[in-house]
Amino acid sequence: MAYITLKNINKIYPNGYHAVHDFNLEIDKGEFIVFVGPSGCGKSTTLRMIAGLEDISNGDFLINGNRANELGPREREVAMVFQSYALYPQMTVFDNIAFGLTLQGVDEEVIEEKVKKTAAILGLTDYLDRLPRALSGGQRQRVAIGRAIIRKVGIFLMDEPLSNLDAKQRVTMRSEIAQIHRETGATTIYVTHDQTEAMTLADRIVVMKDGYVQQIGTPYDLYFNPVNVFVGGFIGEPPMNFIRGTVEGGKISFGDNKIDLTKKLGAAAADYEGKGIIFGFRPESIELGKKDNAYQVVANVELTEMLGDNTNIYITAEEDKAILKVDPHDTPEIDEDITFSIPLENVYLFDAETELRIK
Ligand code: ADP
Repeated sequence: MAYITLKNINKIYPNGYHAVHDFNLEIDKGEFIVFVGPSGCGKSTTLRMIAGLEDISNGDFLINGNRANELGPREREVAMVFQSYALYPQMTVFDNIAFGLTLQGVDEEVIEEKVKKTAAILGLTDYLDRLPRALSGGQRQRVAIGRAIIRKVGIFLMDEPLSNLDAKQRVTMRSEIAQIHRETGATTIYVTHDQTEAMTLADRIVVMKDGYVQQIGTPYDLYFNPVNVFVGGFIGEPPMNFIRGTVEGGKISFGDNKIDLTKKLGAAAADYEGKGIIFGFRPESIELGKKDNAYQVVANVELTEMLGDNTNIYITAEEDKAILKVDPHDTPEIDEDITFSIPLENVYLFDAETELRIK
């Protein structure tokens, strides 16, 4: 049985705004789930409904198979880490981490032992006597995490916990959060708008848009099998390229290049005659030059960005534009015409009307 179940969960705010539509998800014990999507898509609202901080308008929320809609935050045994660390400024790191246990009236010796153990996991042992203002952003966030993990809770909820950190600290904290999850094995639900955080942390990712779940899957699933244009474009950096065209004689145009869709769709290409198709391919899934079993494209180089580990090439072919990611040693000249190949297995086709993937 799933540990946590969300069944047709909806949120309609008192002002009538329908923020979350029929959210369905089953979470196993120990899983690391990430909700990802653009700002305003309903991630925090869903997390807050799980935390018990926001009423569920419709649907069933189950813990261990028992309806938990009406339980308060404490009874749900959840701990939450917010974007703003919400530390007590006048309390030391030790007291901040110990706070929940102190409130519960836990024995002082037990508290001391647990705080020390938690501080060791988080690398805070040398900072226990300090006040929050004498810590870096990353250290403060670790204290907030410590305060959450010290209590034995079933569900660990995090809402954009890294967004107040600089880029370097974010990368460090990200790997620390992954490490903490490995050590504690706590079921975790993590909200972020950052697809890299989602890809690196999650066992499974829930991609949301405008209050609707778009796709749920492992990072591998989402990257290689996006169900629609939105997921294809949201996961991956730089994003997937999309070329829009109308099918004529089984072909669409990519600049002056003709893309023969029968190579990819076979006889089914005829079903799309006269209709709109979106041709998708990832910047990193091309090869320079001509290759077999691939679509060949000639395009002009508008701009190159040499990033060290790779070069991004911005190409144009008539009205169509795309980004290619290549080895830095293959960086072309600006304004040069280049030929590149898109292996057929790396091509994703979408219906222009529904934006759903054509399989
Ligand atoms: P996210 O976490 O994905 O950025 P939120 O869950 O915070 O998105 O918000 C989802 C939508 O619900 C947004 O359009 C937001 O403006 C709206 N919303 C959030 N809180 C309230 C509220 N208390 N009343 C009305 N609308 C709200």
